Amino acid sequence: MGSPINVETFLARAKARFDQHYDYHGIVYRSYKSPILIRCKTHPVKPISITPEKHLQTSGGCKFCLRESRIRMLDLELLREPAVRPETLSDALPMKEAKARVGSVPPRRD
Ligand SMILES: [Zn+2]
Repeated sequence: MGSPINVETFLARAKARFDQHYDYHGIVYRSYKSPILIRCKTHPVKPISITPEKHLQTSGGCKFCLRESRIRMLDLELLREPAVRPETLSDALPMKEAKARVGSVPPRRD
């Protein structure tokens, strides 16, 4: 069933994925699927209990980081939207200009 992931492999992978983001000091590594206690260095409010497997498969286990990354992704999507569909942007701009011009011209009453 494949080779079991030992603590060295896990730490190497975790470091490759998260760099210095999480603190692995004091973890008691039993197996890839046994929960360990880690700490988010950005939000060290309390230890995170997570299996090494989940830690590598998710954003790491920190709820605060997860929330922030979701917000960041939403922001990126909003920013990216016009660039993804340039045709809607170029269509929308002349329309807005036309509307502004129409609005600024006072209606004639002859
Ligand atoms: Zn965090």
